[in-house]
Amino acid sequence: MRRVLVLGSTGSIGVQALEVIEREPDLELAGLSCGSRVDEMLAQARAAGVTHTAAAVGGGTVGFDAELAGLMDATAPDVVVNAIVGAAGLRPTLAALERGLPVALANKESLVVGGELVRALRERTGADLHPIDSEHSALWQLLEGIPPERVASVAITASGGPFRGRTADELSDVGVDDALAHPTWSMGAKITIDSATLMNKGLEVIEARHLFDLDDEQIEVVVHPQSIVHALARLTDGALLAHLGAPDMRAPIAHALAWPRPPVPSLSPFDLVGRELTFEEPDTECFRCLALARQAGRDGGTAPAVLNAANEVAVEAFLAGRVRFLDIGALVERALASVPGEPADSLEAVERADAAARDVVRDAVDGRRPGAPSTAGVGA
Ligand code: NAD
Ligand code: MG
Repeated sequence: MRRVLVLGSTGSIGVQALEVIEREPDLELAGLSCGSRVDEMLAQARAAGVTHTAAAVGGGTVGFDAELAGLMDATAPDVVVNAIVGAAGLRPTLAALERGLPVALANKESLVVGGELVRALRERTGADLHPIDSEHSALWQLLEGIPPERVASVAITASGGPFRGRTADELSDVGVDDALAHPTWSMGAKITIDSATLMNKGLEVIEARHLFDLDDEQIEVVVHPQSIVHALARLTDGALLAHLGAPDMRAPIAHALAWPRPPVPSLSPFDLVGRELTFEEPDTECFRCLALARQAGRDGGTAPAVLNAANEVAVEAFLAGRVRFLDIGALVERALASVPGEPADSLEAVERADAAARDVVRDAVDGRRPGAPSTAGVGA
């Protein structure tokens, strides 16, 4: 039996992880944690017959750190699923790796914010890190067994979100409900907005760089509205390998948790006949978050932490109806220009950058600084 601790169990990935654990005969739930909706988590715990739980009440993470450490020690799991949303997932990832526990990682922000810290810790403890993010799971499966010198580059796909093909003008007054209406994936609110701005794909480029030790130029982003091809690998001889599958997160979750065994068959056979698969270049002028993220990744140091934190606050403000859709990119750009970069060589450094970026965006949203965005927008 492999005992699994699920962090963020009440979210979109968390709930699907519990389904996978339920149906995989070799997996057993060891404990649960969540950020809010504690009653829901307690109901999950009762249903699964587990007693170990922790909640980050009020979204705070400070006291939660000690609670999570206690949860990891008390449950002694074989693997930790990190399905927390946002930079709040970094400390839990580090805490698990520190204990030598393998992490099945949905929380891409861990790698965006603290990629260097995570990599150093993995090297020191030898703990595994297995991606749940569908594109990265696909890359993991594609690249397994291929000598790195045969891999020229990789590509990850983006659906393009609900606003694919629109002009900046057409994006100026889109609403929250429009942005939440993702055409192919059903996910938590934050990542759904990130998919609409293409920030999600920018975060995923940084995530892929850390997971597979790739340079920015080695990662292509291609818009593929059908979300059937998740990732591709270009080999040095010109061959192009692709990973295809229905857009269902339970597949990559099961792959990460069952590995190295194959997961129990659960998907209906994928029918190729009659499928149309199309690919387009992303519009990074209109969807500038993708370009901002790639630039932050190239700049390195604390720039990705600034980008991520600014984006989290901006997305929250958008969801609350306080800024417009195009303000998200403008606010992220403002934070990147305002917070000086530092080496990302300690948790203190990345958390300092994260806090500074949040301040910049909150001040701008609250209108405490000249040129702050208003409901009239900031002219992105
Ligand atoms: P969600 O909003 O549905 O769920 C987030 C979970 O994290 C909830 O259980 C919440 O209680 C918990 N949480 C929030 N703040 C917390 C805090 N401060 N401390 C502890 N717990 C906290 O999010 P989601 O869509 O399930 O996404 C989770 C992660 O997985 C994100 O990093 C996302 O980018 C990634 N991911 C999601 C999908 C998807 O299909 N939903 C796909 C790929 C990657
Ligand atoms: Mg993804």
